[in-house]
Amino acid sequence: MESIDCNRCGKCKEICPSYKVFMSEAFCPRGRLHLFYLFQEGLVPDSNALKERIFSCLLCGSCFSKCPLGINVPDFMYEARQKITKDSKLYLFKYFSLYPHLAFTGLKILEKISPLSSFLQKIKIFPLKLIDKLRVFDKSHEFTKNLKIFNKIKPKGRVALFLGCSVNYLMPSLREAMIDLLSKANFEIIIPKQSCCGAPLLAAGFKEEILSLALKNINIYKSFQIDGVITPCSTCAHFLSSQYKDLTGENVKILNFADLLENSDNIFQDIKSHLQVYFHVSCHSSNYIKDTNKIMEIIKKQGVSLEKKEGCCGFAGLFSFLFEKESMDILKKKVLEYEKADMLISSCPNCIIQFKYMMENKKVMHYIEFIQKNLLKGE
Ligand code: SF4
Ligand code: SF4
Repeated sequence: MESIDCNRCGKCKEICPSYKVFMSEAFCPRGRLHLFYLFQEGLVPDSNALKERIFSCLLCGSCFSKCPLGINVPDFMYEARQKITKDSKLYLFKYFSLYPHLAFTGLKILEKISPLSSFLQKIKIFPLKLIDKLRVFDKSHEFTKNLKIFNKIKPKGRVALFLGCSVNYLMPSLREAMIDLLSKANFEIIIPKQSCCGAPLLAAGFKEEILSLALKNINIYKSFQIDGVITPCSTCAHFLSSQYKDLTGENVKILNFADLLENSDNIFQDIKSHLQVYFHVSCHSSNYIKDTNKIMEIIKKQGVSLEKKEGCCGFAGLFSFLFEKESMDILKKKVLEYEKADMLISSCPNCIIQFKYMMENKKVMHYIEFIQKNLLKGE
């Protein structure tokens, strides 16, 4: 399907989070498609105005899931970003993805030296809110540097973990919750040395770099005898499976967490909770991976009052980096929508970063950590 095949029906427009904040045809899916077509035909120049319209797409995939013709607008946006001239901020994003350990060590230092972080924020090298958003996370733990294997005598299966950068560097309690839950469900667990999945590279238009990262990750996971890979991040899951397949012809086999918990009723306990829990389903879960219905059933079965909520939180990696004000506007609307929740759980660590920033008065956590902390039987 080519961008020119769009029949301009507009079904994608109203659900586009970027259109909702910019309110202009050039910032909606069909507008962006048309602009990219004109750019390729040499009818619009490679300009800042074009860059703004192409890079303000959050790559959420909502338009793709609504398009009657199945036009994959985010894929066209990835292609456009490879072709448009890149500015310096995008190179910062590239190195963040290629060397996440250095980036997170740098963030730790910046957090401690506030005059330096204020200076970088002032000259707009850093988005104002990023350091504040990450401040609440525990960065004192060891990153997963070396291979870890947790064996079992008669395991139900053998899985490897792909943590994703946010979990590896910021959320050690989620990593521990995954290990505990999978271990109680009787799985052998392998945690190889971790890398980025490459989503930030493709979002910033660096195709060569993501190709070599994808092959590196595919080869790492191919080298183990496993049933498949589990990741707590829906964006990583989408990249390791479909995007890697499109880029290299091969992929990493991603398993659904709910499938691994099937026939494990013996590890759970019923709870009587009056708390209203909202399940914020991330864009990559809603529009690509579609991994949350089964897990919601498992949680509800234990007596939790759970409500499903969808729609972009405004983080989207690069978007919150380049369009901080609009990212905050999208978030503010979601926070108002979720006002009645006593607690928020999500399928995406990046949505958790975003919500924790503005929902200080509520518990916000990943559904895996919620299950491990609240629904498991005692020893
Ligand atoms: S829904 Fe599809 S066909 Fe309709 S305007 Fe959007 S991209 Fe074009
Ligand atoms: S991917 Fe999301 S933000 Fe981008 S054009 Fe489609 S709906 Fe809009």
